[in-house]
Amino acid sequence: MTDCRPNLLETLAKRVAERKHAGLLRRARTFDAASGMRMRDGERELLSFCSNDYLGLARDPRVVRAVQDAANESGVGGTAGHLVCGHRREHARLEAALCEWTGRESALLFSSGWLANLGAMQALLDRDGTCVQDKLNHASLLDAAQLAGATLKRYPHNDADGATRQLAATPDVPALLATDGVFSMDGDIAPLRELAALCKREAATLMVDDAHGLGVLGAHGAGSLEEATLTHADVPVLMATLGKALGCLGAFVAGSRALIEGLTQFARTFVYTTAMPPALAVAACEAVRIARTEDWRREKLHFLIARFRAGAGQLGLPLADSRTPIQPVLLGEAERAIAVSRALDHAGLLVTAIRPPTVPPGKARLRVTLSALHEEADVDRLLEALAPIVTKSLPDLPPEGKG
Ligand SMILES: *Cc1c(COP(=O)(O)O)cnc(C)c1O
Repeated sequence: MTDCRPNLLETLAKRVAERKHAGLLRRARTFDAASGMRMRDGERELLSFCSNDYLGLARDPRVVRAVQDAANESGVGGTAGHLVCGHRREHARLEAALCEWTGRESALLFSSGWLANLGAMQALLDRDGTCVQDKLNHASLLDAAQLAGATLKRYPHNDADGATRQLAATPDVPALLATDGVFSMDGDIAPLRELAALCKREAATLMVDDAHGLGVLGAHGAGSLEEATLTHADVPVLMATLGKALGCLGAFVAGSRALIEGLTQFARTFVYTTAMPPALAVAACEAVRIARTEDWRREKLHFLIARFRAGAGQLGLPLADSRTPIQPVLLGEAERAIAVSRALDHAGLLVTAIRPPTVPPGKARLRVTLSALHEEADVDRLLEALAPIVTKSLPDLPPEGKG
């Protein structure tokens, strides 16, 4: 027996203690019920400004009925991986609907966005490859490159010249440039046309994670590539999730038939995992139909975004340069963000404070998100509650509650 080997559980407990000491401990809050943007916590009802249900489809009666009816027929579980016997007509229909919407030849479903990013990168990259990424990319993209064993090189946020330098430094190795379409914590949009041109020049492959763009951007909601009028020749690898604007769960990668054939063979997170429940695929299909056709949802959303930004501008609130439903209010230190979030909670408004390490130190914020389910009066109520931030005359902080 050796007594000098560090104990893993003790090390973990120590890291937790350090995080607690820094005031950065994370806790999931348990809500009793949700109805639209209204969340119930015990006796209290909170108006939420932090869900990713941008189009309000998570509880749409037609989507709910689709999952109910389909579950009556096909049950609950996916029962096996797609390549065993888990692939059903329902999945095939959803893949076809996603192809039609995004204008791509072929698509492959994954059980989550995390798994889609990891599977795509493991199939495309190996130790010889380089993955060039925006510094503010979603954690799943950054981690996926490292888990794929590739060399990860990051460039400053939305800096196409920085990306060019990274690619030009390694002209002779296979390279994937990956970026969020809409950045999840900042709400701004990647310079996709510039990145596409530079990938062409440098013979690199461009991958866009459009988790927050699909459903929201583009004339038909097909996302940031539709808005930037980029085709699959410009962006060969498109990934998006079904859990944000579509209100369901799961994700897909879409591109050429050859790409999807390759992922089917080599994306380990596709091969070695249970297929999404077929009933959920039916619900997602209905959500895609609604997202494509009900333009009023996007119009209302953009109207609410404009109203929030105009009101926040008048108040002098520190907003980010975003025209998407993600509207961060930048507050600096984590303590400040937490204090403001708690004050809003006291006023019946739910807006989560986003702190390091999710965002860089000193860049803590309230991540305000808007949804087509909000009304003008809801936005006005939020603005009114945020107003004291500017004057720093925050109301006396309520005692720390469950949150
Ligand atoms: C949410 C998100 C993911 C992960 O998707 P899940 O389906 O929630 O695992 C990936 N990328 C981005 C940009 C996201 O916002």
